[in-house]
Amino acid sequence: MALKRIEVAPTAKRGFDRKKTVFLPYMCDHAHVIVGALAWCGIEGKVLPPHDEKTLAYGRRYASGGECLPFILTTGEFLKLLESPGFDPQKAALFMPTSCGPCRFGQYYNVQKLILSSLGYDIDIISVESYDSYTIQDLGREFRKCTWYGLLAVDLLQKLLWKTRPYELEPGATDRIYQESLRSLQEALGTGGRKRLLLSLGESVARFGEIPVREEERPKIGVVGEIYIRANDYGNSEIIRLVEGLGGEVRVAPVCEWLYYTNRKKIQDTRERKEFLKLINTWIEDLWQHHGEKEVGQRFAGFLAPPELREPPVSQLIRNSDPYVKEVYRGEPVLDIGKAVDYIAKGAAGIINTLPFSCMPGTMVSAVSTLVRKDHGNIPWLNLTFDGQKQTNLKTRLEAFIFQARRFAASAARGRSP
Ligand code: SF4
Repeated sequence: MALKRIEVAPTAKRGFDRKKTVFLPYMCDHAHVIVGALAWCGIEGKVLPPHDEKTLAYGRRYASGGECLPFILTTGEFLKLLESPGFDPQKAALFMPTSCGPCRFGQYYNVQKLILSSLGYDIDIISVESYDSYTIQDLGREFRKCTWYGLLAVDLLQKLLWKTRPYELEPGATDRIYQESLRSLQEALGTGGRKRLLLSLGESVARFGEIPVREEERPKIGVVGEIYIRANDYGNSEIIRLVEGLGGEVRVAPVCEWLYYTNRKKIQDTRERKEFLKLINTWIEDLWQHHGEKEVGQRFAGFLAPPELREPPVSQLIRNSDPYVKEVYRGEPVLDIGKAVDYIAKGAAGIINTLPFSCMPGTMVSAVSTLVRKDHGNIPWLNLTFDGQKQTNLKTRLEAFIFQARRFAASAARGRSP
């Protein structure tokens, strides 16, 4: 389809018609609990299917070549939906968060709106901003609270998944229970809000405890990097399963970490601008979110160790990152470096940094990774760039990496510098 002349330059739309169905791109499993929280607030939401080759083809058709992979994938998914038979854009809204900071994410919404408009589609795009800690004013506090509890629950459930699956005796058992748990969480949130979610979570966690597992020593691999690609199985070529298949056990930086970071930035910005009411509100919200972390974490007590239940505060990650990337550089690098250092301190035998091709923050993390490695016993560190192409050498690189990680872990266990 030929592009028409672009005449619109819309700005982010926050409000929306509650009668419309909201479609969310499948960045990761957390999308399910957002749909649950929407349902609890009386709004129909749907998670778009996981990305595939068609998504990529659609996205590439309308990208100019310089965009990052998450933009291509989300744009492709929206176009796939819009072109599906019988789809009525007037009854739907698309969901696309945005952000300020030193990278392209702030432009996703605008460029997508331009592409869709140029193709003749008139459809709402709901956009929430990181500057505003992703607040959707129209949906009120209950939506926000439900979403937060849901996101925490999925973060912790994934930790259980990655801790159990490599050791399962019955292949597929962990995935099955995880998928059933996800569905239960979405349904519980949608029908009974946070209270029901907590009940459902308790049942799911107990089921994980029943999965038969074997004793085995595996090197622990910390996965950090650009949040979309790190969390998206298609975008990162199923890196977690690949590492598990080669004998590792992963620890992946949680999604909620980014939201705590946006709180911190909002507190700093509002203090600087002397917007004291907003400052106090954000501070209270942050306290409340930490309370939620404790409440959700209690459901996992006995299944996850205390350091896995309580993530280090963002201030700690920023201190970890300080010798390499200063906090003044806004965005993910401080979290990625800070988290990598945290994983190393907790016994990781290797770090993988995942980044989309030409990602600005990701490239910065890759650049300083040599220094971080040097300061931490030359720990194996792999920077993996993804552009949507199938990488024929990915498995080979990972095999070598896991081999090094095993040696690193063995040397560390003997108490020697590897
Ligand atoms: S973090 Fe990287 S991949 Fe994500 S929008 Fe920014 S530049 Fe693109």
